[in-house]
Amino acid sequence: MKNPLKRLFDFLLPPRCINCGSVLNQENGLCPECFNNTTFITEPYCSKCGLPFAVVSDSRGKKLCPACLKDKKPVLRLSRSAVKYDEFFKKSIIAFKFMDKTQNAKIFAKLLKTAGKDIFQEGVDVLIPVPLHYKRLIKRRYNQSALLAFELSKLINKPVLNGCLIKFKATKPQVSFSGRARHQNIKGVFKVKNPSLVANKRVVLIDDVMTTGATLQECAKVLRRAGAKSVDTLTVARVYD
Ligand SMILES: [Zn+2]
Ligand SMILES: [Zn+2]
Repeated sequence: MKNPLKRLFDFLLPPRCINCGSVLNQENGLCPECFNNTTFITEPYCSKCGLPFAVVSDSRGKKLCPACLKDKKPVLRLSRSAVKYDEFFKKSIIAFKFMDKTQNAKIFAKLLKTAGKDIFQEGVDVLIPVPLHYKRLIKRRYNQSALLAFELSKLINKPVLNGCLIKFKATKPQVSFSGRARHQNIKGVFKVKNPSLVANKRVVLIDDVMTTGATLQECAKVLRRAGAKSVDTLTVARVYD
């Protein structure tokens, strides 16, 4: 039996589908139709970068994609995402990021918890959200990645280190660049304020979307330089063909 206050609250502000906004009976995030139209990332995927496709195996039978097989000094330990970022799922992310649908962080955090099982199994010490430059933060009023990190933190009992990794230079939005230019745009714009807080820590970087991974990789480089033991990335959605 639901608590009467919660019932009243649900009546006033019923849970809604994060994608289409239709009223739901339960706070489970997506209505049946949107659930069916969402591409959840499931195995087989590369055991390292999480990219779903036909994987090849290395000499020890580890399932890797060709890019990870070649990369002898990866900056990132593991990367995982919950769903494919396509035209359909884009709506949910845009609403969350730009239209104040901050309450959706709870639902997204549940997706992150499921998608991150391999990462949590390897071991995690802290969650770090990908930071926004303070000017953008003022404009948007919230950092969507920090909201995700705080909600996930409640579900997995790991602390969030917010404000330690900072973006000290403003950049043009990554969407205006492609490929190599994305790496150039983001290079040297992050720093770790207190390296002692990340030293020897196994860090999980949290963000809403992974596109080329340029931003996450740049953050990871900075964190590793500051002494982090390992860096994983966990995002709600991921762009891939
Ligand atoms: Zn829906
Ligand atoms: Zn890979």
